[in-house]
Amino acid sequence: MCPDCGTPLKLKARGSKSFRTLFGTFKLTSPRLEHCDCKRRKTASFRPLSALLSEPVSPELLYMEAKWSSLVSYGLSLDALQDFLPIDLSLDVKTVRYDTLKVAKRLEAELGEDQASFIKGEPSDWDLLPPPEGFFKVGIDGGYVRNWFDKKHKFEVIVGKSIRSFDEGEDEDRTPSLKRFGFVQTLDTKSKRRLYEVLQSQDLQMNQEITFLSDGDDTLRQLQLEMSPNAIHILDWHHVTMKLTVLSQYGKGLVQCEAVFGEAICEKIERLKWSLWHGQVDKALGKIDELESSIEPFSETYARYTGWVKALSELRTYIENNRHLIPNYGERYRNGEPIATGFVESTVNEVVSKRFCKKQQMAWSKEGAHLLLQTRVRTLNGELAGIFKGWYPDLDIKAEEIPIAA
Ligand SMILES: [Zn+2]
Repeated sequence: MCPDCGTPLKLKARGSKSFRTLFGTFKLTSPRLEHCDCKRRKTASFRPLSALLSEPVSPELLYMEAKWSSLVSYGLSLDALQDFLPIDLSLDVKTVRYDTLKVAKRLEAELGEDQASFIKGEPSDWDLLPPPEGFFKVGIDGGYVRNWFDKKHKFEVIVGKSIRSFDEGEDEDRTPSLKRFGFVQTLDTKSKRRLYEVLQSQDLQMNQEITFLSDGDDTLRQLQLEMSPNAIHILDWHHVTMKLTVLSQYGKGLVQCEAVFGEAICEKIERLKWSLWHGQVDKALGKIDELESSIEPFSETYARYTGWVKALSELRTYIENNRHLIPNYGERYRNGEPIATGFVESTVNEVVSKRFCKKQQMAWSKEGAHLLLQTRVRTLNGELAGIFKGWYPDLDIKAEEIPIAA
C-alpha cells in the first residue's frame, strides 16, 4: 500500500531474487510495484525487496567464503563450505572467488589515499609524546607467483611483517603484536598508506625507534623512508648470507679438483663473511677483488669459473649499492638487536607460498593476487572478523579471533 494515502499499489512486473546464505540459496519473489501518483516521486516503480536485501549474499556466508579462500584455494574452500554447511550445490568456485574478491575490493576502497610522507609533526612535537614502549621491527621481502596471462613468467609479490615486542617484565599486560601486509608492487598505488595503516594499528609513535629489514630494493626502501623519523634501515643479513652461500658452493666445487687451492679459497670466502658480519664494507670489497684474482688461474680448468666470476661481481654491486644499510651485524646481534635471520623469509612462505604457488600450475592475474593478498593478510592477522563486525554490526561472530601463529 502507498505509505502516503493507503491506496493498494499496482503490480508492474513479477520477478525473483536469489539470496545465498549458510543454509543454502533462497529464491524469493520480488515483484516490481508502481508508485502511487498521489505525490511526485523520483521513480515510476520500485522493488520493495531490494531495499531489504541490498546484497545477494548474507554476511555470514560472505565471511566464511572470504576467510576460507584466504587460507586455501577457492576450490578447497568450496569443498569445505559444502562439507560443513547445509549449502546446496548452487554455490560454485566462481561465486566463491567473486565474493572473496568483492570483500577485498571493499577493503581496498576503504584504504585511505597515499601520501608522499607519513611522518607527522615536527621534532618539537615528538618530544612531547609519552615515552615509547616496546620495540618495532618490520621485515619486507618479495616472492614470485606465476602469471596467468603469460604462464612462462612470474611476477613479484611483496610481503612484510611488522612485529611490536616488549621487554620481559616491562608492561606485562602488553601482548606482542604481529601484523602481515602484502601487495603487488607493479599494481599497487597505495603501498605507503598500506604500511602506515599497519604501523598505526600497532600504535607506532613518531618518537619510537623502528628497524626496517629488507634486501635493499630501491622502491621498497623508498616505502620505508617516509614512515618514521626514527627509522633504522638495515640490509637483511639473511639475504647477505644467501649470496655468500652461492660463493661457497663454487669454492667447494673447486676443492673437488684442486684440494689445496680450493681450501685456501674457501678460507678467503669465510673471511669475507667475517668482514661483512662486522660491517667492514671496504675490507669486504677488497676481499672480493682478492678472490677474483685468486681464482683467475682456474679460468681454463674449472668448469664453473664463469658463473663464479659473475656471482662475485654481483655481490660487489650488491654491497656497493647497499653499503649505507650494512651495520655491524655482530655487534647488533650481541646487543639483541634485529638483524633478521629468516623472519623476513618466513613471511614469504607464510603469506605467499602456502596459498599462491604451492602447486606449480597455479597461476594468477596481478589484480587477483593483489586482492587475495588483502583478505589473506587480514585473515592471518586475525582481523577479518573485526572488519566484518564493523561492516555488519548485527553479525553474530566474535570480533576477536585468535590470530594464526607466525
Ligand atoms: Zn498514494
